[in-house]
Amino acid sequence: AKRNGRNTFAGFEAGMDTDLKTRRELDADLARAVERNELSLAFQPRVGMRSGGIVSYEALVRWNHPERGMIRPGLFIPIAEQSGKIDEIGNWVIREACRQSLSKLGGAAISVNVSGHQLRSRNFVENVLAMLEEAEFPPERFEIELTESILVEDRDRALAILKALKRRGIRLALDDFGTGYSSLSYLRAFPFDTIKIDRSFIMNLANDNSSLAIADAVMNLGRALKLTIVAEGVETIEQLTILSSRNCDEVQGFLFSQPLPAGDVPQAIDGQLSE
Ligand code: C2E
Ligand code: CA
Ligand code: CA
Ligand code: CA
Repeated sequence: AKRNGRNTFAGFEAGMDTDLKTRRELDADLARAVERNELSLAFQPRVGMRSGGIVSYEALVRWNHPERGMIRPGLFIPIAEQSGKIDEIGNWVIREACRQSLSKLGGAAISVNVSGHQLRSRNFVENVLAMLEEAEFPPERFEIELTESILVEDRDRALAILKALKRRGIRLALDDFGTGYSSLSYLRAFPFDTIKIDRSFIMNLANDNSSLAIADAVMNLGRALKLTIVAEGVETIEQLTILSSRNCDEVQGFLFSQPLPAGDVPQAIDGQLSE
């Protein structure tokens, strides 16, 4: 069944089976996307629960395909991941996020999403450091977001890479927390600074007791481990109110801002938190 709405672009449907031919075509087109300037970044603020101020911005990649229009990352990132083109795209995202933070966001802290193929690419740690250095962007203001699924495979190698990043001052966030299956052991073993509670739990906070219980357990655990706890996908004041009475440090979601180009994204948030 066709579904309309913000996740549907140019005839594509979010997360649905894209046929093989389309995938091959998109992969071929991706090879030229960087040099043809078809990629862009959208930034979404992370807001401090106490201060109400913007703590940092998450950079999210966008692809404006010359014929198909905007293609969402949920569709093309998995394709790029499979063919390995994600490495080049990922490098572009890192360079561009640093550059735009400095030129348009007052040097604000940023986070970028890194995929498994990219994390395991040759000299990943040195490459990232070199890109930050070239951009003159401080590692302490740079966070890498990773999902658990990335860490499961070849766990020892992943751990070594994360420890090396951490030693160089880069911050690490565990993304989509709660959707994996061995969450607790990963939290303990890996040197994360931040956990981001998955949107699926936040979505049902107000009307589903088990989502609330899970979110609460995650927040209490994060607090015990001295991690920064971020709730993602906050859309309503009701969700915000529930989170504000609990162990949640930062919030992110449409309630504050959609992901937007650096020139359009808010540099301060007014209202919501103090209401
Ligand atoms: P993610 O890292 O979990 O990013 C959050 C997604 O939720 C973003 O979708 C964002 O637009 C959306 N979102 C934020 N707030 C709300 C809200 O209040 N309500 C709802 N319904 N959605 C919200 P987006 O930009 O389509 O990105 C989807 C996924 O694609 C990301 O999920 C991430 O896994 C991946 N991705 C995006 N950019 C990159 C990138 O540069 N590199 C890699 N490897 N993956 C990326
Ligand atoms: Ca993320
Ligand atoms: Ca997420
Ligand atoms: Ca996600």
